[in-house]
Order: sequence, then structure tokens, then C-alpha cells
Amino acid sequence: MIEAQGVTKNFGDLEVLKGIDLTIPKGSVTCIIGPSGSGKSTFLRCINQLETLDGGYILVEGQPVGVKIRKGRLHAQNHAEAARMRENIGMVFQGFNLFPHMTVLENICEAPVRVKKESRKAVQDRARVLLERVGLSEKVHAYPASLSGGQQQRVAIARALAMEPRLMLFDEPTSALDPELVGEVLDVMRKLADGGMTMIVVTHEIGFAREVGDHLIFMDGGGIVEQGDPRTVLREPRHERTKQFLAKVI
Ligand code: ATP
Ligand code: MG
Repeated sequence: MIEAQGVTKNFGDLEVLKGIDLTIPKGSVTCIIGPSGSGKSTFLRCINQLETLDGGYILVEGQPVGVKIRKGRLHAQNHAEAARMRENIGMVFQGFNLFPHMTVLENICEAPVRVKKESRKAVQDRARVLLERVGLSEKVHAYPASLSGGQQQRVAIARALAMEPRLMLFDEPTSALDPELVGEVLDVMRKLADGGMTMIVVTHEIGFAREVGDHLIFMDGGGIVEQGDPRTVLREPRHERTKQFLAKVI
């Protein structure tokens, strides 16, 4: 589903990703943990083409991200090609980023109608099903400001799902939430995982990583220090840096 090889990314003199190698099978849940500044968000942003790579490559379903092959040579993708590839990838951020002047239903329908040119009626029907899945059927016509943080984040997930993505990226989706609202968002993500969605989740919710994750990655200093079965990595971390980090977050 996703294969990254030797991915590097610099911001000026700062090497933010120093050669990431990673394989993510279809239908799996990969959790990424690691200290602030270790490059977690940058890596997700590279997958979603919000950043360009400086070295290496990322394949999403066999397609190289950011480049295309024409007449046997590599060319940078143009804007439309990049946008088309991004349609298959849903992303949920720490801040919920809903459109404040639109209702919940309008938020969810906006991209499928505008970007994919689907009929509004069909998209609205799908949006209602998604709202039921995230437990917010009664909020169809509410505005974001009237919702709790947990509710807004569940709308943000439904909005990403409305594009029918093949891959979902989550960047610390519960970090901005009051503790009592974290569970309702994690429950939605757990259901999504049970439904077979391929997911990459940057999170410090160790319980989620242990119970829902198929694979756990510990990043530090722009590289993958350790990875493996979440239960094994969490119970018996092999590297000193992983041990130190886990001692702080568990
Ligand atoms: P956090 O846990 O705080 O979210 P992170 O692991 O997601 O951290 P990144 O946001 O990927 O870390 O940032 C990695 C490094 O790259 C940091 O040193 C950051 O300051 C730097 N960085 C990120 N984006 C930019 C940018 N647009 N320009 C310059 N430096 C950047
Ligand atoms: Mg980050």
C-alpha cells in the first residue's frame, strides 16, 4: 500500500528526515510515536504531498508520490496530478480546521461536490451515513462553534471519509482535546480500523497504539529508531532512546 525508501527532507540546513524506510500493508494501522521535532508530522506531510522530498521515494499503491514517469523518465507532477493523488488520502490534524461558516453537513459535502464533482444529493446521503457512524446524526445542521472539541474532531474525520479515501493519516488527532473527550474520538478511529481502513496515526495515546495498532514506529532525530509489533516494542523496547521516551509518556 505504502512503501517509503530512503526518504530525506531538509529545511535549509536542518535535516528533518534522514532516510526513512517503511512498508505499510493495505488495511493495517501504523502508529508513530516520538519526541517533539523528530519529524513525525513532516513524514505524514510528505506522504500527502504537502512537502516535497529531497531524496528517496514514497509509493502509494505503486504510484510514486510527487513524480510521474513519462517516456521512461521521471517528471515532477503538475498541480492537477498531485491533487488527484491527494484525493485518495484523508488527513486529520490536531486542530479540527472545520469551515466555521458552514454547517456540519456542508463541511462534509464541500470537497466531494467541489473537487470530485459528485451530485450534492448523493454526497448528502453519504454524509448522513458517515455522521451516524461517528455518532453525530443529531448535529447535521449545527455549526462547528456549537460543538465540543471531540464532536468537531469526529466531524473532521467524517469529512475526510466523505472523499472515500484509501488511506487515512492522523496527526495527533486527540492532543488538543480535553481528556474526557479523547475516548470518543479514539472509538471512532478504532471502528475505522476494524472496518479495514489503512491508517497511519501519529499519537501519544499508547493504549490505542497497543490495542489497535498493527505496527509501532518510534522516531527520533529524523529517523526510525525502532519499530515492530506494538505490544513487543512497548513491553521490551530495545533501544535506550525508546526506553527513555516511553518512560516519560506511559
Ligand atoms: P511535534 O511532536 O512537536 O508535532 P514532529 O515530530 O511532528 O513534532 P515536525 O513538525 O515534523 O516534528 O518537525 C521536525 C523539524 O522540522 C522541527 O525541527 C521543525 O522545527 C522543523 N520544521 C518543520 N516544518 C518546517 C518548516 N516549514 N520550515 C522549517 N523548519 C520546519
Ligand atoms: Mg507534529
